[in-house]
This record gives sequence, structure tokens and C-alpha cells, in this order.
Amino acid sequence: MVLVRTSERIGRVPPSGIRKFFELAEEREDVISLGVGEPDFSAPWAARDAAIASLERGRTSYTANRGMYDLREAIADHCAERYDLRYDPDEEILVTTGVSEGVDVALRALVDPGDRVAMVDPSYVSYRPGVLLADGEPLPVRTRENEHFRLTYEALDRAGASEADLLILCYPNNPTGAVMHEEHLEPVAEFCREHDLRVLSDEIYADLTYSGEHTSIATLDGMRERTIVFNGFSKAYAMTGLRLGYALGPAEGIGAMNRIHQYSMLSAPTTAQHAALEALVSCDDDVEEMVSAFNRRRRFVLSRFSEMGLDCFEAQGAFYVFPEVPGDDEAFAEGLLEDQGVAVVPGSVFGEAGEGHLRVSYASGLPQLKEAMNRLEAFLA
Ligand code: PLP
Repeated sequence: MVLVRTSERIGRVPPSGIRKFFELAEEREDVISLGVGEPDFSAPWAARDAAIASLERGRTSYTANRGMYDLREAIADHCAERYDLRYDPDEEILVTTGVSEGVDVALRALVDPGDRVAMVDPSYVSYRPGVLLADGEPLPVRTRENEHFRLTYEALDRAGASEADLLILCYPNNPTGAVMHEEHLEPVAEFCREHDLRVLSDEIYADLTYSGEHTSIATLDGMRERTIVFNGFSKAYAMTGLRLGYALGPAEGIGAMNRIHQYSMLSAPTTAQHAALEALVSCDDDVEEMVSAFNRRRRFVLSRFSEMGLDCFEAQGAFYVFPEVPGDDEAFAEGLLEDQGVAVVPGSVFGEAGEGHLRVSYASGLPQLKEAMNRLEAFLA
């Protein structure tokens, strides 16, 4: 007899396609995993020291719901300096338990039942379940490899996004590694202004941009007032396990998100907030070193793909490449894992437009990448 009856809503959310591959990979000992979206570095020492010092001083209580004021100020300064994003620490910044929480509370705060939420296809696996849990209707907008997986005005139009209420953007993109510069974002902004779309812009990979500067859509004309920007410490600062992110946006949107956050989370983890404050203040050099290492790995993997004759668009952000593979991507990924012990994620996990591709993460070290590329070559042969 089932006593824990679950909601109808939970039935709409399938188990994660990525997790399934991790579980398969865990069954073998010799597996090289290029499946995870997690840096192989540890957080910078200064950030870890700040976390330790905060514990030694007994700073183990909740913070303000919106996050420690010092941290919000540091976020405001950092975002103004680095991305030209100017937000008031009092009302326009919310410190969250990772970008994951930020996107979740934003969807619950901004989506009404039946609202259509357009999202880039392929993109990060959490958006679709997030929309479904908020009683919205996901509307995938296909991007194309021959357009470098960038979202375009025409793609939005073709997908019927003029009827949507919200657009989720993710650039630099997981899983394709695509980036959008100002000239690419402007037509998307034009579409949003014309059709009155609000935007959730997940910019967690902003610092991992290997060609030119990162541009946030919120800096374009008429976009600040309709956009919530998300960023965090998991990727650029290698702090995935500390669970810290932030959202920037107009006071009404951030206030609505805080209304949920204050009940569901109370405040983001205090120790992590101390680490994050130090990361912003003193860890630019560490970030720069990690970004250079990722860039070297990116070039290595791309050059090996080209030697093997695997078609792969030249990803310029995040730490993923998205090669095309012969046949069904899921069967290919399963075969590669069984035959050669290399774990990657099938592209179709990220949406229909990802079919026929693999997401290969180069967040692992060069020795592992070299061995994995040799095994991939053997598998293709
Ligand atoms: N957004 C994107 C695009 C991601 O790829 C990930 C993690 O892979 C997240 C958000 C999760 O971020 P966080 O660790 O801050 O919750």
C-alpha cells in the first residue's frame, strides 16, 4: 500500500538523463568521465581560508534573507566593473543557494499556470522541469549548428515565441559552448521588446568566455527592466559544492523571488557566503589561471576531434564541446562507455536540437583528456 501519495505535478518531471549515465559509469572502475559539468580544480585557497575562518569565529547563524550585506555590495561592485551590470545591493540582488535555486524561485515567482516559457534548445537540463514544476509550458526554440547554436530573431519567430511570456537564455551555453556577443544579442533583445517577453538570463559561465568579453543581455537598451540575470561561484571559482549563486534584477522581480526564498531557504549557506565574499575580493588571479587551463584543454580536444574527422563546431565558452556523431547519440554514448570506458552525455538529453551530438566536458585534466581522446579514436575505428 502506497501511503506517500505523490503529486500529479511530480509525474510531469522525468528523472535526469545525465544521472542515468553517471550511474552506468559508476558500475565500472576504469571509467574516464567527461560527463560532469564540474571543474576538476578546488576552490581558491583564499576562499577556503575565509570559510574556515568564519567557522572558527563561530559565524554559523542565518544571514539576512537576501544574503550578507557585504557580499551583496561586493557582488554589485564586481558586476558593475566586470559586466557593466549596475544593481542596488539593498533591493536588486538576491544571494541564492546556487544558480539552481535562483532559477527555481524566479520561475515560481514569475510564471502563472499555463504561461509559455521559451527556452534555447539545446540547453541546460534543469530549465524544463523547473518550468513544469511552476505550472508553465516549456516552448523549445531550436538553435542550429550552422548558426553556431546562437539564438536568433528568426528562430524565436519560427518557434512561436511571440506568444511566450518569458524567455530563458543560457550563454555561454551548456551543452554547446556557444557564446553570444552584443551583435548577436541585439536581435534577440529586439524580439523581447517587440513581444514584451521577460528574460531569465543564466550567465553562470560568463567568465569562461574564450573569445572577447562576455555581454549580458540586461545591458542592452530596454532590457534591464525585463531581465533577471543569474550568476554564481560554482564554475568560475570551482565552488560547486559550496552552493552559492546570485540573481540581479529590478526590485519587483527580486522582491518576489525573495518572498519564496525567505520561506524555502531562509538564507543561502553562511559559510559559503564568507568564501564567496573573499573569492570576489581576492581571487581574480585564480580565476584567470583556471580559465587559461580550460582554454588549453578546449583547443586540445577540438584539435583531436578534427584529427579524428569528427565534425565539431568551435565552442567558445563554458567547458563543453558538442561534436556530431554518427547515428543515434544515446546508442553512441552507451557504446563508448561499454567498449572504452569513456563517459559523455548524449546531446538529446538537452533537447531535440541536441540529437546526433555528444556533450563532452573538458573540465577534467589534460592527462585524462588525452587518454579519453585515444579511447574515442579507438572506438570510432
Ligand atoms: N546553470 C547552468 C547553465 C549550469 O550548467 C549549471 C550546472 O551545471 C547550473 C546552472 C547550476 O549552477 P549552481 O551550481 O550554481 O546551482
